[in-house]
Amino acid sequence: MAVFLCKCGKHLSTTESPNDIELRVYTDREWDSITQNDSVDPLAIPFPKYDVWKCPQCARIYFFDSESGKPVKTYALEENNLVLLTLIGLPSRFLFLEGVGEK
Ligand SMILES: [Zn+2]
Repeated sequence: MAVFLCKCGKHLSTTESPNDIELRVYTDREWDSITQNDSVDPLAIPFPKYDVWKCPQCARIYFFDSESGKPVKTYALEENNLVLLTLIGLPSRFLFLEGVGEK
């Protein structure tokens, strides 16, 4: 639970629970491993590798390293509904994914 200032100027906070900022994101392989048992105790589900936040104002997605708490990846929508992936620390690398953006 923390607060973060989005690049658009919106203050994001996860101090309230539940909230609409923090997302629980697992790879399919991670989720398959978690759900191998016949019954899954919701309290036994581990936290995801990354702490993922979504800004309700600009729809940016931030991936924070769960251990250090530092943002490691930022995804932002482009005007033509493409997603621009900016790898922090590697500013010259961009990946465009068609049809992934939100309305
Ligand atoms: Zn924002």
